[in-house]
Amino acid sequence: MSESIFTFLATSDISSRIKGRSVLTKNYKIGESVGWVPANIGITNTGHIAEGLPYRSAGDLRLLADDESMRKISGIPETPDGQFVFADVVKTNGDAWSCCPRTILKDAIQELSEEFNLSMTVSFEHEFSEKGLTTPSHPFSYSRFLDHGEVGKTLVSVLESAGIRPETWLPEYGEHQYEITMEPEAPLRAADNAVLIRELTRQVYKSMGKDITFSPVPVPGGAGTGVHIHYGLYGPDGEAVAYAPDAPGRMSSLAGKFNAGIIKYGSALTAFFAPLPISYDRLKPNNWSTAKIFCGLENREALLRICPTNEIGGKSPAEQFHFEFRGGDAGANPWLLLAVLIKAGLEGIRQDLPPVEIITEEPDFDEENSSLQSLPESLSDALQLLEDSETVTSWFSNEFLQTYIAVKQQELNDLEGKSFAELCEVYSNVY
Ligand code: GLU
Ligand code: MG
Repeated sequence: MSESIFTFLATSDISSRIKGRSVLTKNYKIGESVGWVPANIGITNTGHIAEGLPYRSAGDLRLLADDESMRKISGIPETPDGQFVFADVVKTNGDAWSCCPRTILKDAIQELSEEFNLSMTVSFEHEFSEKGLTTPSHPFSYSRFLDHGEVGKTLVSVLESAGIRPETWLPEYGEHQYEITMEPEAPLRAADNAVLIRELTRQVYKSMGKDITFSPVPVPGGAGTGVHIHYGLYGPDGEAVAYAPDAPGRMSSLAGKFNAGIIKYGSALTAFFAPLPISYDRLKPNNWSTAKIFCGLENREALLRICPTNEIGGKSPAEQFHFEFRGGDAGANPWLLLAVLIKAGLEGIRQDLPPVEIITEEPDFDEENSSLQSLPESLSDALQLLEDSETVTSWFSNEFLQTYIAVKQQELNDLEGKSFAELCEVYSNVY
């Protein structure tokens, strides 16, 4: 490994773009911080400051490194080795800043632990596809696995050097689509990894002559590209609290309440998990993403899927038993995405909601299951639902909400008049 000249202190903004500043590694000290600007959180995903932010040119903040999150970046062809550390955006006296997405997640994790003595394991799955190819592409095929063998091997070793534990890398269903999945981690680390993995994956592919995108709809009419979050609920000492073998869906009443919160607030959360105008083309029936807002047993069109367990050879299901949130995409900041899931789950427990309804059979959306809650059909509808929800808006400061809505509204204004194909093109270059 070559010498690391720079250490990059990084945050990820509302548009889920990693940004920050570097210091010389030889000067880096424990508790390092660098200057930052409030309006930087309000830069649209195409790169300019949105109108209507609660701050303008005045004001200063710091990016405060979380030393424990330090990562080594090494082994990417044509790219210098370096260090990377996640930072919280704080006020100049070190106090928390209410618009920092990483702090919002840390607060949600703390609430879960302090109020209900609960912990989680979390793992993000990322799909992505190689762009601009017209060659035949067969789903899940070994030929595609071999085609990208060299890049897959490099990717896994780069991720491992960065302290990320990939579970697997595989050819997916969509045209030239792949997927990288990670081992379960504590929630903050899992979300940190999700922030970093996209940038590292893109850079590894780019350095090996391949152009990829994580955009939810890389081309019109093709398979969608999701970011799924697997999560398990545990007691303070890691004891499995979600599993109840005799309950419907084998889901304990505690997990039933947590998941009921996510379903109850699903429509108000959509502006967070489906934050791009094109996200809505992915979220529909027959797309194996999310057709409606429901919890389904082993169902790949549910917003929440109760995952199967592997009991081959007598393996115990209790610790493995977990859920998958299938609605998200790469437009969503992973810290915010996980934070809103936890906050909705917390509401479910606080309000003592009845356990979530579980759809156990293949749903018939037109007849028997027609009453299942629909997703909003556009980003503007989703933003309205967010603004209308007293509960969901109460989770954030006014400053944060105003910023979130301003950034998303600016994005809608900037892209107005573009055809769907043009939008797909824009986002496949951004993500
Ligand atoms: N590509 C699907 C999506 O847009 C997910 C397919 C799967 O992994 O089940 O979420
Ligand atoms: Mg997949």
